[in-house]
Amino acid sequence: MTAPRPIWDKLVGQDLVVTELSRAVADAEHIRRGEHGPGMTHAWLITGPPGSGRSTAATCFAAALVCPEDGCGVCEACRTAPFGGHADVDIVATEGVEFKVDEARDLVRRSEMSPIKSPWHVIVVEDADRMNDFAVNVLLKSLEEPPPHTVWILCAPSVEDVLPTIASRTRLVPLRTPSSADVAQLLIDNYSVDAAMASFAARASQGHIGRARALARDEHARMRRQEVMRIPLNLHDVPSCFANAGNLLGAATDDAKAITDPIDDAENLNLRAQFGDTAGSDGSTRSRVKRMVDAATKDLVKKQKARVTRVVRDQVDRALVDLMGLYRDVLVIQVDGDVPLINEEMRPQLSQLAERSTPNDTGRRLQALAYARQQLVARVTPLLALESLMVELKDPWIRVAL
Ligand SMILES: [Zn+2]
Repeated sequence: MTAPRPIWDKLVGQDLVVTELSRAVADAEHIRRGEHGPGMTHAWLITGPPGSGRSTAATCFAAALVCPEDGCGVCEACRTAPFGGHADVDIVATEGVEFKVDEARDLVRRSEMSPIKSPWHVIVVEDADRMNDFAVNVLLKSLEEPPPHTVWILCAPSVEDVLPTIASRTRLVPLRTPSSADVAQLLIDNYSVDAAMASFAARASQGHIGRARALARDEHARMRRQEVMRIPLNLHDVPSCFANAGNLLGAATDDAKAITDPIDDAENLNLRAQFGDTAGSDGSTRSRVKRMVDAATKDLVKKQKARVTRVVRDQVDRALVDLMGLYRDVLVIQVDGDVPLINEEMRPQLSQLAERSTPNDTGRRLQALAYARQQLVARVTPLLALESLMVELKDPWIRVAL
């Protein structure tokens, strides 16, 4: 077995996956020559928890398939394909909460196009878990019998997150959550982060690489996390529960807007540029163009609203994951567990929380957090979900005073 090609260097702590996908790329070449290539197939499902690198695995795989040297890491194909800049690689992700039928139809149409520069036309779907039943039905036939040059690479958090009809038509590649040591090393090697910060960010992110990178390099992200981690210490009564729920959602909304506003602005500018200046044209042209602009604007506004809703939910979910880490640590202290704390630097405060409650209370709080996360997925209004969560998280003795 030869050493993995450089394109895979971006994938942290996933040696087995790298071996399997490298073999697929080598066998893809065999298939192209009409030979036997059992390592390759035309439909894949890459699973892994958020931040484990499933999109990176998918896009590196796509790049390796269209690279003339199986993923050299330096050629034009390797440099452009992972970012959607290669003619034969389509990378799609829905910006809404759900993947719509029209989007699926468009994908199938694209999948039927022959490749232009390379032997394969690769379609990466970054969030196959967001496809509804109708969208999946549209895709099934193409997943089962795609045109000979087409490769589908679907991504999802876990195999349970996609419909069984998808799982049965794809080859599963499960990623594992990278270890804190792997993530810390990546931060040191690739982003020149110092060792102490790398260790903190790797632990705090619980194996989420993107989150670790943000925590290591962005003071605002660290400050936001600190605000979230202080919440359990500040739930004294019901009004403070509601206030904390409101603050958390407010911060999530501000951060979401900071992410989506620049994208919205660029899209709005783009829309205006598309329809151009109608000043010199006659009245009927102007009113026709105006109708088109109005319709396109309406569509765009809808899309932008869906996107900000999704990003707010993602931000809230991340805060809930941080809180789960905190209560997990409380439980470790309560049962004298012999494992490192995620939030070692908060040990005094965590010990305080551990003393004020029983392991049962902590278990109940962890369940409440898991339930709140499910409610967000089920599209319960975030504020409602957060308010009832905070009431569950507050000190148990307050329950008596209610
Ligand atoms: Zn290359």
